[in-house]
Amino acid sequence: MSRIYNFSAGPSMLPEAVLQQAQQELLDWRGSGMSVMEMSHRGKQFSSIAAELEADLRSLMGISENYRVLFLQGGASAQFSFIPQNILGAKTKACYVKTGAWSEKAIKDAQSYCDVVVSAESEGCNYTRIPNVADWVCDPEAAYLHYTSNETIHGVEFQTTPDAKGLPLVCDMSSNILSRFVDVSEFGLIYAGSQKNMGAAGVTVVIVRDDLLGQCLKTVPPVFNYAEQTKNQSMLNTPTTYSWYLMGLVLKWVQAQGGVAAMEERNIAKSAKLYQAIDNSTLYRNPVEIVSRSRMNVPFILANEALDKEFLTAAEAAGLNELKGHRSVGGMRASIYNAMPESGVDALISFMQEFERTH
Ligand SMILES: *Cc1c(COP(=O)(O)O)cnc(C)c1O
Repeated sequence: MSRIYNFSAGPSMLPEAVLQQAQQELLDWRGSGMSVMEMSHRGKQFSSIAAELEADLRSLMGISENYRVLFLQGGASAQFSFIPQNILGAKTKACYVKTGAWSEKAIKDAQSYCDVVVSAESEGCNYTRIPNVADWVCDPEAAYLHYTSNETIHGVEFQTTPDAKGLPLVCDMSSNILSRFVDVSEFGLIYAGSQKNMGAAGVTVVIVRDDLLGQCLKTVPPVFNYAEQTKNQSMLNTPTTYSWYLMGLVLKWVQAQGGVAAMEERNIAKSAKLYQAIDNSTLYRNPVEIVSRSRMNVPFILANEALDKEFLTAAEAAGLNELKGHRSVGGMRASIYNAMPESGVDALISFMQEFERTH
């Protein structure tokens, strides 16, 4: 068996220890005589998996009692529409910060439900920086302020939690959740899909403060109504049981590594190395302003675009896969989430240096 280093933006690499444990438990989960896939979601065994999943996420992120933690379906993309429908209440406006492709999508979908006030944007510079928070225009009549903490496609990331000027802060953390410390008490709502930093595809985590619940539009399907799902432990219908289980294994793995602080330390080291290698080269270039660079997704372009194909082919031959940049920005992108070991980043850097030397 040989495993590649998978630099995909998502679904992405999982820790090998997690895959091995899943393999070991595949046919017989801890003496139950069945696979987690075969368990009733109402049964004792799966209930214990679900309870631990929530407890571990609460402990890793320091989520206090006045927040509900939901595990939903439909991906982060569904939440682009269901957040406004759940928490606008009587308000008709919401503020959004536009920093890349994902916040653009969130804005577009929210526009079906409210007037979107764009508080700040960096489209004018092709999404190569986070707009200066002091210049943001927040409408006090808005129901909330939404931002995307890490723009997976453009490789820009907030280095601190922005001041929402009194509005409930709503954040799409899909591609950097559990990669760095955040103080959850600064947020009204955090949401994230599972397939980047938390496991296999299929679960969307929504962490929502109690006071934002109970104002959902009646037209929303109950499975996307946060208050309804809160009352039913996210099991109003059959959840994606196996994805919950895998997420549970990933959370245990993060704990075993030393928690979010240890992940953050590693992510700083991994990304710093890679950016340094890019900055020190004449062949590679990263377009993002240094202080806005993402620790998770590192896009880079080759000085000679004609070499792109050869670069990707040679990288794959060296066991370095999924380095092609998103079609909207071109070039390359190395996604180096929590599960990417430092050895993978080292292998990529060596490969890039050798490719530069020979081209
Ligand atoms: C991947 C991603 C999404 C979309 O996730 P889906 O699960 O495919 O809906 C949304 N926001 C960000 C920041 C992402 O990286």
